[in-house]
Amino acid sequence: MTVPLLPPTTYGLGHTDAEPLAEGPRFVRTGGMSRWHRPRSGIAFPDSRIVYTVWCGQQVGGLHRAAGRLTAETIPDDLPVCATCDGRAVGAGQEQDGPAGRTLLYGPRHLAPPRFCPASRSSLYEALPGGTAARCLACSDVHPIRAMGGPYAPRVGIVQHPPGAALVAPCPFHRWRHPTLTAGRLACICGRPLTAP
Ligand SMILES: [Zn+2]
Ligand SMILES: [Zn+2]
Ligand SMILES: [Zn+2]
Repeated sequence: MTVPLLPPTTYGLGHTDAEPLAEGPRFVRTGGMSRWHRPRSGIAFPDSRIVYTVWCGQQVGGLHRAAGRLTAETIPDDLPVCATCDGRAVGAGQEQDGPAGRTLLYGPRHLAPPRFCPASRSSLYEALPGGTAARCLACSDVHPIRAMGGPYAPRVGIVQHPPGAALVAPCPFHRWRHPTLTAGRLACICGRPLTAP
């Protein structure tokens, strides 16, 4: 049995040639690790390499390939489990069972839609007739456009607004943080198209 994995969010560019994994094993470690960790996210490369990012922040796979990657559903040896990984996995709801008698809570960042639409105050809009309102390219809602920026860098942007119901699906690596216009279409800064969910 596998557990659901979270999107492989990152502050870096991410791996544009890799695909996020939706599910993964309950426990992972490399042959050199002295404890079991729990995968938070995973990506698969075209050459079928798999790299898991575990809840405590380490990566299992990739560079560690030479040491071997072990996966398990239940702990098969007497090695301990990383407490950071176990607590966060349970607290984030990836796993039902936590330490007996305790309710754990952990809130991963950047997964929920942002408070304001990522196209707010940007030129990511489609102008509507009349010149005072525009359709947001990220969420499709219609809002006013206004002159923004200072006298030395004047520009027009769509006003700050909450994300509409039709907000595009997030980039698995960068969520909604870096929307851009690429070849006339909304895309993440890493190149992945941002389209309706
Ligand atoms: Zn860990
Ligand atoms: Zn919007
Ligand atoms: Zn991206």
